Amino acid sequence: MKNFIRVFLEGIINNVKRIIFAADRVTDMDIRNRILEGRVTPTDKVAEVPCIGCGGCSNVCPTEAIYMLDLDEPVEIIEGMVKKQIPVLNSEKCITCYYCHDFCPLYALFGKAGTIHPNDVGEVELDLIELLEKPIKISDDKLVFISQYLSDSTIIKKRET
Ligand code: SF4
Ligand code: SF4
Repeated sequence: MKNFIRVFLEGIINNVKRIIFAADRVTDMDIRNRILEGRVTPTDKVAEVPCIGCGGCSNVCPTEAIYMLDLDEPVEIIEGMVKKQIPVLNSEKCITCYYCHDFCPLYALFGKAGTIHPNDVGEVELDLIELLEKPIKISDDKLVFISQYLSDSTIIKKRET
């Protein structure tokens, strides 16, 4: 009971401090200083190993923030499917629309974590061989919709005009 009261009171005090002194407020300047002083560790935006290198994220990005980098050595993912490129995300051009993640086929078609994310892709562990050999469970309409974005880099521009 004592602990409960202590935690309760600490919570009240912290909230009062926040309201009065904005003690935990983080401003753009704080973030900028942290970056300049090397106190911010950049996060990974692409999970390079499970990414299949399809280029869909690059096609779908409305600000051209993603380019496809040629791999030194192409990687055969499964028979007949070779990864030749991986995406590189330029955060300075990113508007955080999440299209790249949401249209990544590993997420959109297979329901797994996308292998690109504008903030932090995190740990993505996928058994690609097992995954790619499974049938895709998705309606034809949705498949057509997603496919056109993945395969045609001009479609967003066409829709916006
Ligand atoms: S989240 Fe950023 S990188 Fe991804 S599609 Fe949108 S603008 Fe491009
Ligand atoms: S859409 Fe997904 S799988 Fe395709 S290149 Fe981009 S991150 Fe990799």
